[in-house]
Amino acid sequence: MANHHNETKIGTLHVVATPIGNLEDISERALKVLASVDMIAAEDTRHTGKLLSHFNIKARTFALHDHNEKQKAQQLLDWLNEGLDIALVSDAGTPLISDPGYAVVNLCREAGANVTPVPGACAAIAAVSCSGLPTDRFQFIGFTPAKSQARRQFFRQAVESGMTSIMYESTHRIMASLEDLQAELGSTQQVVFAKELTKTYETFFSGSVAELITFLTADTDKQKGELVLMLPAEQRDEQALTPEAKKLINLLESEMPLKKACGVAADYLGLKKNALYKAIIAEREE
Ligand code: SAM
Repeated sequence: MANHHNETKIGTLHVVATPIGNLEDISERALKVLASVDMIAAEDTRHTGKLLSHFNIKARTFALHDHNEKQKAQQLLDWLNEGLDIALVSDAGTPLISDPGYAVVNLCREAGANVTPVPGACAAIAAVSCSGLPTDRFQFIGFTPAKSQARRQFFRQAVESGMTSIMYESTHRIMASLEDLQAELGSTQQVVFAKELTKTYETFFSGSVAELITFLTADTDKQKGELVLMLPAEQRDEQALTPEAKKLINLLESEMPLKKACGVAADYLGLKKNALYKAIIAEREE
């Protein structure tokens, strides 16, 4: 039986970051790739069209809407297999980061296609790098939930994660979100707010949530635009867990549930019940 080799090359999917405001943030490599691929898969072809015309790049674009991304992904994979090179872009920043592209990259990876990044701007990374918060460990947790109850839990989990948390927020929800943050974690909760990064009205604000609410209420223009919120990890009250406290809790725990034991020990030692409970849970988890 004759063995027909298919000589056509397999294409590459380039995942290309674009600017988040300042067009000069596009990389030389991004421009080169965008100009050379056979097709650009874009979140919004009109939006990307403007970027391309700014840089005088003529290219075929293909719309990648979120609701039909799975079907579009299959089409893109077919083209890669036919040997076309494709660039994947979103409206701003790095594709897939709170943006479309996951279905495409996931399918292409599973199919063993060539997928390669052209890194560049990402609002989360830009924000945290200038926040003044610890960056040795951090988590990006996407957009804050739309509903108040879910949002309060989201903020609590963020500060209890043990690391800096970065999240995206929309201009319409920022005040409601900050009210929830204050209600859940208290008015002295520290927060860093980064707005309009790389643009004319770039603003960083660090302080308590109460101070941030005052700052944004004083000038409602400051609530507008694109923004990132960051929360530091809650400081653990290491003072609370003295050897004496530990011994007392261990004794009490044979007679009552841990939470109650912490309450009794805290009363006896003049410590905060919650801090003591959290400290012992944290220690046992380690
Ligand atoms: N893929 C993008 C990235 O890599 O940053 C994020 C896309 S997401 C749909 C849009 C959100 O990112 C905005 O609501 C805002 O929270 C954040 N964002 C985007 N550009 C920003 C900027 N220039 N300054 C501050 N936040 C920005």
